Amino acid sequence: MDITNQSYKRVKRWGLFSLLAIAFLQAGCTAPETTTMETAGSQPPQFDESWLDTVQGNMPLVISAPHGGTIKPEGIADKDCGAKVMDNNTADLAFEIKNAFAKYGKTPHLIVARIARAKIDLNRDKDVATCEKPLMGETWEQYHQAVERALEQAIDEFGYAMYIDLHGQSHPVKRLELGYLLKTPALTESYEAPQTNPERVEQTSLRNVLRDNDKLSLETLFTGEKALGTLLADAGFPAVPSQSDPYPQEGEPYFTGGYNTRRYTSADYPKVFGLQIEANYDGVRDSEENREKFSAAFALSVNEYLMFIEANSNW
Ligand SMILES: [Zn+2]
Repeated sequence: MDITNQSYKRVKRWGLFSLLAIAFLQAGCTAPETTTMETAGSQPPQFDESWLDTVQGNMPLVISAPHGGTIKPEGIADKDCGAKVMDNNTADLAFEIKNAFAKYGKTPHLIVARIARAKIDLNRDKDVATCEKPLMGETWEQYHQAVERALEQAIDEFGYAMYIDLHGQSHPVKRLELGYLLKTPALTESYEAPQTNPERVEQTSLRNVLRDNDKLSLETLFTGEKALGTLLADAGFPAVPSQSDPYPQEGEPYFTGGYNTRRYTSADYPKVFGLQIEANYDGVRDSEENREKFSAAFALSVNEYLMFIEANSNW
C-alpha cells in the first residue's frame, strides 16, 4: 500500500497524459477530432491500482499470490491463450497468513493480484501472461516491479529474502505441494541417492542458499527435520516433499514451480531462495476458519524454518 501508492498515482497520471497526447497527435494527423476523442475515451485502462494489493513487510519473507484475483474489468477481453482457472481463496489466504505473523510481531511482504487470471496470468513470462496483447503489459510490469521492490527491501534489511509463490491445486492427494523446480524423478533420485550433486542443486529454487554452504543440503531442506515440508506436516498440514512423504509416487500429479519461482530464485537474484506452494483446498483454504488454522501453522513453521536457515546459511 504505502510507498507503492505514489508510483501507482504517477502511473495513472502518466497514463492519462499519454492518452491525451495520443488523442492530440491523432487529431493533428488525419482522424476527425470527435471520432478520436471517442476512441480515446473508450480505451480500457492499462493498469488500475485496485488490481494489485501490496503490503510492505518487516521480515525477510516475500509472498506473492498471482492467481487468486476476481476482478474482471469491463472492456478487457479474456485471454485467448493459456490457463484461466483461478486459485480460489488464495488472495484471502495470503492476507490471513499476514495476520498470523502478527503474533510474532512480524509482517511478510505481500504482492497479491486482484485482477482475474482470465485477464492476465501473473505466473508466466510477459508474452504468455498477456497472450502478446500490449494492453495488459503494464499490469505485468507493475506486478513484477512490486515483487522486486519487496525482495530488494528484505535484502537491504536482512541480507537475504525467502520468496514464496502461493497457489492452489485440486489434485487427488490432499497435501501441500512444495515446488523446488525438480520434477518427480529428480526429487525421487535426490532422496534415494542424496550425495551432493552440484548440477542438481543448480536446478532447484534453493541454489542460492546452498551456494558454498556445507551445513545445508537438498536432503536437509527437502526431507530433514527442519525442512519446511516436515515442519508444516508436524504442524498438521501434510506436505510433499517432507520427512514422511519425501516425493510424489509415480503417476501422482505434482506442481514443481512456475515462472515466478524460477525467476526470483535464479542466479539473477543471488540473495533469494524459495519455493512455490500449491495448497490443497479442503481444510486449508476452503473456509475462513480453516484459512486461519492453516495460517497459524504456516507462520509457526516458517518462523522456525527461517531461524534454522539463519543459523546455517552464509548470509
Ligand atoms: Zn496458480
